[in-house]
Amino acid sequence: MRLCLTTSLSSLSWLLPREQAALQAAGVLTVGDALARIPRRYEDRRRSADIASLTDGDTVSLPVHVYSAGWRFSYKRYFEVSAGAEGDPHGARLLLRWFNMPYVAKLLAVGMNLSVYGKVKIYGGKLTLANPDFEVMEEEDTGARLVAAAMGMAVCPPAGEVAPAAERIHTGRIVPIYRAVSGMPARNYRTLVWRVLRELPADTPPPGYDPAPAYPWRQAVRDIHFPAEQADADKARLRFALEECFTRQFRVAWKRARSEARAGQVTATDDAYVRELLDALPFSLTGAQQRCVEEIRADMASPRQMNRLLQGDVGSGKTLVALCAMLYAIGSGKTAALIAPTQILAEQHFRNFRRLLAHTDIPISLRTGGRADDTGLVLESPDADDGTPRLIIGTHALLYKKSRPKHLGLAVIDEQHKFGVEQREAFISSAEGEVPDVLVMTATPIPRTLTLTLYGDLDVSVIDELPPGRGEITTATRNPDRMQRVIKFMRDELAEGRQIYIVSPLVEESEKQDRASAVAQLAHWQEIFPEQRLGLLHGRLSPDEKDAVMSAFRSGETNILVATTVVEVGVDVPNATIMLINDADSFGLSQLHQLRGRIGRGQHKSWCILLSKAKEGEPGREKCDIMCRTLNGFEIAEEDFRLRGPGDVLGTAQSGLGAVQFPEWLADMRLIHRAARDAAAILARDPELLLPEHASLRALVAGESDTRVVS
Ligand code: ADP
Ligand code: MG
Repeated sequence: MRLCLTTSLSSLSWLLPREQAALQAAGVLTVGDALARIPRRYEDRRRSADIASLTDGDTVSLPVHVYSAGWRFSYKRYFEVSAGAEGDPHGARLLLRWFNMPYVAKLLAVGMNLSVYGKVKIYGGKLTLANPDFEVMEEEDTGARLVAAAMGMAVCPPAGEVAPAAERIHTGRIVPIYRAVSGMPARNYRTLVWRVLRELPADTPPPGYDPAPAYPWRQAVRDIHFPAEQADADKARLRFALEECFTRQFRVAWKRARSEARAGQVTATDDAYVRELLDALPFSLTGAQQRCVEEIRADMASPRQMNRLLQGDVGSGKTLVALCAMLYAIGSGKTAALIAPTQILAEQHFRNFRRLLAHTDIPISLRTGGRADDTGLVLESPDADDGTPRLIIGTHALLYKKSRPKHLGLAVIDEQHKFGVEQREAFISSAEGEVPDVLVMTATPIPRTLTLTLYGDLDVSVIDELPPGRGEITTATRNPDRMQRVIKFMRDELAEGRQIYIVSPLVEESEKQDRASAVAQLAHWQEIFPEQRLGLLHGRLSPDEKDAVMSAFRSGETNILVATTVVEVGVDVPNATIMLINDADSFGLSQLHQLRGRIGRGQHKSWCILLSKAKEGEPGREKCDIMCRTLNGFEIAEEDFRLRGPGDVLGTAQSGLGAVQFPEWLADMRLIHRAARDAAAILARDPELLLPEHASLRALVAGESDTRVVS
């Protein structure tokens, strides 16, 4: 049978049925699937040594001869081989022991030459290797393998495994280590890949885009699985990383080209509302805000659809810029919607906008789903969708098609990272006929490389300046052992009429515990400040309860807010001047930055106090040190990226990105630029991907239709 990438693994006669089933269960169905699972890491098993020179703890790979073999029993049954150097029956011996691996007994026999790999342990004065990886070094026609085969017993690992000396699989070379497939021994999976690579014809075409034709795919796939040298693996990984980068950038470029081609609406024809608002404000926009408003206006005034990201640090005044954009839309006779990630934020925006627009007759309404799974809408003000342009604020419930506002000219998505990329795209593309302009906002800055990977299809406006007159913020790390001075300090601020946030990390194990620990925190602080009015905010409160707690704090009715991280994003209470964070080192950097962004919002000086037991030099301490060193969210984003690694940041923070195979390269600017350039060049030459050599690219974007809908 001639193997190709689409060959089903279950058609390989030499693969055991139960392993075929295990592979199937793991989603590894074809030869191509098996090759696409790249090694997690490599182990250099080339270090060899004389048996006589081995000591406890050595990790070695060495050739041995089997002098005797048999079952043993001490506290449990195991198969043992007494091995030594070939041709030296009286030399030093190494005992190879296999526990719970009965099949090994069928493979080994006296007289065989093996290559073994493992970690030496001395037991009772004897050199032993427990469960060593091994391979039989030459075809042994008289070996146990043939006996087993003759008796009709399953031969495992497969018959083809016996390796010519130059072609080792598990020992004596740089060995690939794969993510485990449950139900299949690691060595068998390795053998599968090795054998598939050996049998795959040399002229097999690459499965996807070939970013580096000078380095043939066939060679690269060999190098990534069974490299001769580490440098070969590195070279191959770079090649596949480039392909992955290209794939992402190509999707982004494709989406961008689509949205540019898509007819949009002209949603900025009149600026009367914006001028009125700016006249009514007690302050003027910062230069950066003005520039962003202008960029957005120009985009909305054009007939193509706007797809724009508004980036800005915490407190840089993104909301106001968004409001200006919404007023342009309303001024042009369209409805504008703002979608917030939480009920608290939606309500805050609602209140805020009502105040800011009190001088106008623009209808403002709030639409939020009660529960997260509920698409039913709660309407705050009579809202008939009668065609009057209006301003709608809501939560993700607005994303569902049946609650989509009519005549939507502009959709603003606040704190985008709380929604998935998928959700955003679904929302954008679900409007048929009348495609709204879209403005996406992020809560905290994200690293530049990630902007390109995650939002490469969007235009970007950056507010790189904070409004003037902000209270200064000082950040300090304190050991919880020395709370007395912190408490005295808090008492003084309260006496000045200021307010305080006290935040604790979420207790992950259970929601019950989370509530319990929040309640315990409240009792603890109430005891310390018996004369103060404390509020408690945690994730288990109903939206109404949360709202009540927040408004009590906002109005000053309570002056200390004990909270879990639900206060993280967007909440705005200018009179609060202390943010006390328990176990600060258990938060992520961008979370800490968000939390600190809750203070320094009024004219008073503010303090962010990080409580941490982490000592100088410990990783948790580094986070605190970074927080103390800088207030700049862009800088913190880069540090977060450096500390956590792109894999984590990409994988967890941003849903909808899918599995990332090469995080270490995906954040590499040179790779991203090169991939973006290649993608643009292809689309310039063949915008509709009609050329036969672009068939694989066409398949790549086939899922990206213009009409995907969440329903
Ligand atoms: P974020 O960018 O974090 O969403 P907000 O939009 O919530 O920030 O703005 C933070 C605070 O700054 C709000 O109270 C807002 O009214 C105020 N603000 C916004 N722009 C200015 C400005 N140009 N001058 C003074 N205060 C401003
Ligand atoms: Mg905000």
